[in-house]
Amino acid sequence: MARVYNFSAGPATLPVEVLEKAQADLLDWQGSGMSVMEMSHRGDAFVSIAEKATQDLRKLLNVPDNYSVLFLQGGAAGQFAGVPMNLFGDSDKADYVVTGNWGKKAVKEAKKYGDIAVAASSEEGGFTEIPGRDGWQLRDDAAYVHYTPNETIQGVEFPDVPEVGDVPLVADWSSAFLSKPIDVSKYGVIYAGAQKNAGPAGVTVVIVRNDLMGSAIKSTPMVLDYQQQADADSMLNTPPCFAWYMAGLTFEWILANGGLEGMAERNKRKADKLYGFIDSSDFYRNPVAPEARSRMNVPFLLADDDLNKAFLAQAEGAGLSTLKGHRSVGGMRASIYNAMPEAGVDALIDFMRGFEKDNG
Ligand SMILES: *Cc1c(COP(=O)(O)O)cnc(C)c1O
Repeated sequence: MARVYNFSAGPATLPVEVLEKAQADLLDWQGSGMSVMEMSHRGDAFVSIAEKATQDLRKLLNVPDNYSVLFLQGGAAGQFAGVPMNLFGDSDKADYVVTGNWGKKAVKEAKKYGDIAVAASSEEGGFTEIPGRDGWQLRDDAAYVHYTPNETIQGVEFPDVPEVGDVPLVADWSSAFLSKPIDVSKYGVIYAGAQKNAGPAGVTVVIVRNDLMGSAIKSTPMVLDYQQQADADSMLNTPPCFAWYMAGLTFEWILANGGLEGMAERNKRKADKLYGFIDSSDFYRNPVAPEARSRMNVPFLLADDDLNKAFLAQAEGAGLSTLKGHRSVGGMRASIYNAMPEAGVDALIDFMRGFEKDNG
């Protein structure tokens, strides 16, 4: 077996221990005589898997009692619609802070449902910074304020939770979910596709403050209706059973490896090393303002774009996979989520140093 260091932005590398556990249980989950993929979602076995995953996630994030934890389908992009549909009612206004491609997409989708304003955007500067809080144009009568804590494509991450007063704060945490502790009580809604840091594709976590549920607009599909899903323990219809189970194994792995404090410490160390190397070199560069740099997605450019192809091919040969940057940014991108071991970052830096020596 030859596993590579996989720097994919998502679906992304999973902890080997999680994959091995799933492999060991694949044909016969704990004496049930069947795989998790084959069991009824209403049976005791799967219900116990779902409950354990929910409790472990609550423990990891210290989710307060007045919040519901949902495991839904439709991805983070499904929530681009789910959020306005559930939170609009008395007000159909929402303010969006846009710091990259995903925030832009969220705006576009939300516009189908109400009066969406961009409260601040860093697009003019190429999404390389976070607009200063003083300049945000927030409306007091908005139903919510939406932002993206980590923009996966540009590699821009908020260092702190922004202060927005009494209007509920909504966040697309997809690519930094479970990478560090977060204070859930500061949010109205948190959502995240699992396929970056929390499991395989197919399941989307939504954490919602209970008082924000129960007044979804009439056209909301039942599967996106937070109250209906909460009442049904996220099993209004067949849930993504296997993805939910895999997310549960990932939560167990995080708990066994220092929880979110442990993840944050490792992630900071990995990111500091990689940015430190990039900054020390004249051959590589990262365009993001230092205080807004992502610890999860590290885009970098080579001194000469004509070398990109050779870089990618040689990296692949060295067991360093999926480093190509998003087409809107160019260059390279190393996604170094929780499951990327520090040894993977070390191997990447070694390779980059060698490539620079040969081509710089
Ligand atoms: C990956 C990603 C998405 C899209 O997630 P899907 O599950 O494919 O809908 C949305 N937002 C952010 C920040 C992401 O990283």
